[in-house]
Amino acid sequence: ATPMSVMVGVGKAAQYGILIRQGEALQRAGQVDLVILDKTGTLTEGRPTVTHLHAVDGQEDTLLALAAGLEQHSEHPLASAILERARRNGIEPAPVSAFEALNGQGVRGTLDGDILRLGNRRWLEAEGLSLAQVTEVARTITDAAGTPLFLARGDRVLGVIGVADALKPDTRAAIERLHRAGVRVMMVTGDVDATARAIAAQAGIDDYRAEVLPRDKAEVVTSLRRRGHTVAMVGDGINDAPALAAADVGFAIGTGTDVAIESAAITLMRGSLHGVPDALEISRATVRNIH
Ligand code: ADP
Ligand code: MG
Repeated sequence: ATPMSVMVGVGKAAQYGILIRQGEALQRAGQVDLVILDKTGTLTEGRPTVTHLHAVDGQEDTLLALAAGLEQHSEHPLASAILERARRNGIEPAPVSAFEALNGQGVRGTLDGDILRLGNRRWLEAEGLSLAQVTEVARTITDAAGTPLFLARGDRVLGVIGVADALKPDTRAAIERLHRAGVRVMMVTGDVDATARAIAAQAGIDDYRAEVLPRDKAEVVTSLRRRGHTVAMVGDGINDAPALAAADVGFAIGTGTDVAIESAAITLMRGSLHGVPDALEISRATVRNIH
């Protein structure tokens, strides 16, 4: 495409709320044959809410107070869900100290000399806890496309909290447009397989990678590029920044974190994923030089 037609394409994209920082990205977008999407905040609203509270000893208020105490220093969307629920129930977060967030695993802190942990099964089991008594509840949560978070105090499992995040209303339609354009679509998430499968099904995506640690998202992109794909990565989080930078074309969700936006060549100012097929179409038209 000529510099002039690229300028026209960039202007056209802006009318659709698609901010293109490099003209080259617009030219590459039309060649994309595989779009990889992050789950939380990209396919979903990114405003999860607590759907299940299950305390092994029936003390749901204590469970919530401990979880909120752990999450009060975390920036993760899962943390906001738990804090919001505690606020709504009038529960004061427990005074947890020595807080630590473990990327892709959960949060840890201490209370009265006990270690508290809240996070996913893989991490808690690696720490030596048995989650057998709450497996049934966890399955109910994952079947509903929610994320189960396990809470333990020392070596005792106290319960499970289910957190779920709805798809954005037009996610499914945007995915359908990509499929119709002959583009493969894949979801990557740090979430467990059962939750990922349920969300992917809701979105109409048949290909996904679950339990991908934040640092491994970029590796997924790189290995698919090595196999010959021209890859677009779409994401919103700090976690997604390396993958956005590793893709042929990175799309940041405009409501996401600044780090993601800085790592991507394209920003979707509207949260909607329709921006992705829009950009691909505008690119193809630009390269053919028709408007
Ligand atoms: P995603 O890629 O879906 O945005 P992350 O990599 O941020 O997910 O997190 C993956 C998993 O790690 C979460 O599903 C959750 O089980 C656990 N986790 C991460 N942060 C927290 C937190 N602040 N509280 C509880 N669990 C967490
Ligand atoms: Mg995200």
